[in-house]
Amino acid sequence: MQEELMEIALKRNFMMPSNEIYGHTAGFYDYGVVGAAMKRKIENAWRELFLWREGFYEIESASVLPENVLKASGHVDNFGDPMVQCRKCRTRVRADKLLEDALKKNVEGMKPAEMDALVKENGVKCGKCGGQYGEVVWFNLMFATTIGAGEAEKGYLRPETAQGIFTGFPRIFRALGAKLPLGVGQIGKSFRNEIAPRQALMRLREFTQMELEYFFNSADAKHPRFDEVKEKSVRVRSAEMQKNNETGAHEFSCSELVEKKIVPNEIVAYFMYRTAQFYEAVGLKREKFWFRQLLPNEMPHYSKGNFDVEVETSYGVIELMGLAYRTDFDLAGHAKASSQDLSVHVEGQGRVMPHVVEPSFGVDRLFWAILEQSYRKGGGAEKRDWNWFDFAPIVAPFDACVFPLMKKDGLSEKAEALTQVLRHEGLSIYYDESGSIGKRYARADEVGVPYCITFDYESAEKGTVTIRYRNDGRQERVPIKGLGERIRGLILDGKTSL
Ligand code: ATP
Repeated sequence: MQEELMEIALKRNFMMPSNEIYGHTAGFYDYGVVGAAMKRKIENAWRELFLWREGFYEIESASVLPENVLKASGHVDNFGDPMVQCRKCRTRVRADKLLEDALKKNVEGMKPAEMDALVKENGVKCGKCGGQYGEVVWFNLMFATTIGAGEAEKGYLRPETAQGIFTGFPRIFRALGAKLPLGVGQIGKSFRNEIAPRQALMRLREFTQMELEYFFNSADAKHPRFDEVKEKSVRVRSAEMQKNNETGAHEFSCSELVEKKIVPNEIVAYFMYRTAQFYEAVGLKREKFWFRQLLPNEMPHYSKGNFDVEVETSYGVIELMGLAYRTDFDLAGHAKASSQDLSVHVEGQGRVMPHVVEPSFGVDRLFWAILEQSYRKGGGAEKRDWNWFDFAPIVAPFDACVFPLMKKDGLSEKAEALTQVLRHEGLSIYYDESGSIGKRYARADEVGVPYCITFDYESAEKGTVTIRYRNDGRQERVPIKGLGERIRGLILDGKTSL
């Protein structure tokens, strides 16, 4: 599955190993024309659900951060992984992952020296060559750089997008009317010098995050729209279930999660539901992902509740996003280190340091999970012989394809003119006139385009075209007038069969 999917992803230009002609450096992938179009759609679906519909806004902050910012956030001292190197073949691996695999033991929260003792006591040997491991050491995952010439200042590429939201908080807060609660998001690149990048897009050294910081007054940890979601349920693997070695996940309504104190407050439950809603909207199957409550030894000391969304993939269970109640840790830390007052005035309460709930999504892992879950094989019971993708229309790389039935008799020119009209109406259209119609349908299916519009002889005469639906291959004839609106409606309804 993985190899087959990767082959298609490369062939159809979903993605490309970065700088491939020089030999690929592990941990970097570029998105090709099909992939970049689809990634933007995923990001826009997140913008729509997590920002616009919530009345939240987005910023775009710097990717290079001076050392003092990341010292204050704790990244300079703590953001790393324990690493161990084979003395014989020099392969470096993450010591925690090594021990988890070799001893089936959760070593989260252990110090490098403790892990070192475990490696030695249990005689854990290199998985690649059987050689002996050296000492377990701490490796900071940030890419260090220098800012400016001469007496250069030390800096780092940001390991997450969130810090720019915290450092910009006072200005953003004032600009948006100085009121809590306040949500600020950011979509952008993050950089981590991962010890062992692997598994396609799952562990990259440069990847995209979509992060939201929801600032609120901890004396009023309510969500104004909680009523909308309280009866809705999400799939959760609680700490209790993990302690009792229960497998799977349970359905909990949002109000149950609050009553049973599985979540620290209704804000966390609210974002859990929105997260699940987003993942389903972009095409993940509900039964394939769940929220795992982190165990006390997995949580940072300041956290009052952490959940990871985990998804089943061909690489095993992978973390897709983290949802954390980070209290006032970030703002308080930056206030202290910068000697700036980051607290806000709350009527009747005076100065208050806002608390934060942070949903932190990765785009790349989600992109791959969507590819895996949408992949359909041709042949057998399938009518078509080719493999195709069953993408949700909102994330399909193109909204529709436009084909002239033939290249002759002026059909090409008219189909191209129709393409331009649809593009001006804001739709992303792939125009294709090469090869037989059947081949063009196959090419469209192979990148998961939901609708193929064919301009034929009747179109020229009667002002109608055919729309072919991707999933059942059936066609309907519709007027050209209002076609853009019609396609937009189909996308919003998620309709993929006639
Ligand atoms: P992991 O434990 O897998 O290293 P993390 O807990 O460090 O991940 P977070 O810091 O919570 O990850 O980042 C939020 C999200 O960013 C992750 O859930 C994931 O989707 C994405 N992400 C983090 N690291 C990577 C990476 N190296 N490659 C691709 N995506 C990543």
